[in-house]
Order: sequence, then C-alpha cells, then structure tokens
Amino acid sequence: MASGGKSAFYLRKGLRELSRHNPSRALAFIRQAVEQIPPSCEQELSKALYWLSIALLRLDQRDLAVKSLANAQKLRHQSFARKFYVRHVNQYGMIKRPTAELDDLYAFTSIQLSSYLIKRLSHRFGSEVEHSTVLKLILEAWKQLSKSEEFSSLECGEKLLLFKKIKIDFPIFGAYSTTLRFRDRQDMAYSRNSVSACSCGSGLSYTQCCGRVRSISEL
Ligand SMILES: [Zn+2]
Repeated sequence: MASGGKSAFYLRKGLRELSRHNPSRALAFIRQAVEQIPPSCEQELSKALYWLSIALLRLDQRDLAVKSLANAQKLRHQSFARKFYVRHVNQYGMIKRPTAELDDLYAFTSIQLSSYLIKRLSHRFGSEVEHSTVLKLILEAWKQLSKSEEFSSLECGEKLLLFKKIKIDFPIFGAYSTTLRFRDRQDMAYSRNSVSACSCGSGLSYTQCCGRVRSISEL
C-alpha cells in the first residue's frame, strides 16, 4: 500500500473505534495514521492531528490534546481545527478553565513545574515527597502573587513575563542534569509580542500560537 492509502486506512479504523467509544484503541490507530503522513501533506496531516486531539480529549489527556490541536490548526488556518482550537483555549494557549483565575494558576504552575523539571534527570520527579514539596512551594508562591493588587491589572503577556521571572527557592533533591536555559529567547518574544499577532502569520496572538504555555507532558 502507498503511504497515503495506509494512513487513510488507519484513520478510518481510528474513527470507527471512536464511534464505538473505544478512545484508547482509536488513539493507537490515529497515531499510526499521523506517523504515515509525510509533513508535506498538510491538509491530510491537519485532519489526522485534529482527530488525534479528539481521541486524547476523550481520554482526558487535555494537555496533549491541545498540543495536537495547536499543530493541526497551524497547518490549516481555515479549518475546523482552528475554530475548535480558538473556542477551547485561553489566552495562554492552554485548555480553558472555568475561571480566569484558574487559567492564571495553571499557566503559572506549568511554567514553574517546567522550569523545575527541565533541570532534573529525565525531566521527572524522583519521588512523591519531591513532587508534593515542589507543588506546595509553587502554590505558596501563587498565593502571594495572586493576592497582590497590581497582578489583576496585568495583561496576559505581562503576567507571563512575571511567571517566568519568579524564581522559587526549591530544596535540592538528588542529582541535577545540566541542560539549561533555552527559554531566554522566548522570554524576549513575550515582552514584545504578547498580544500582537504571531510572527508566523497564523493570525492568532503570539501567546495562543508559537508562544503558548506548554504543559509538563510536552517536556
Ligand atoms: Zn505562531
């Protein structure tokens, strides 16, 4: 079978599993479809990535679903994937939460967790104690930050700059890797382009597009 035929075959199987309420089987087939599609077939790839995000949403893997959806709509700006993405993400390019305060909290937590885990071996917590200690410190920092009066008046890009600037003094757990600091360039982009249109030409704001907040499952 040619690659196009194979991917269409897997996508059909995946969609059938979705309609039978078997999202995990569907996910496996749709992943195979995505892998078969060459990057040059943008329309086909966008469609498969869109269905991948639907399977991930059904499995409640929201962070990965958003990543897939973000990629799907990037390939085709005039697609259903774009409409679906814009409807479901907040200004940080993350899944919308019930309140704006929760949107802020999830963005802050993701940024802090990522900057902690990026320094850890294999980007994972070594123990449950480490995990809960780090989370507790992040939430304490959040409480202080969110009750300050100036905070509520900031716009999204300014909040993001602040979230990245805040360095929490975490205790040291075990060995650290030394791969560090690829974020500095992105920080610069936030300050200039946060609400203006993304430079990639997508028509979305920078923070919803190339500068969206990535969750730790994307590390
Ligand atoms: Zn972009």
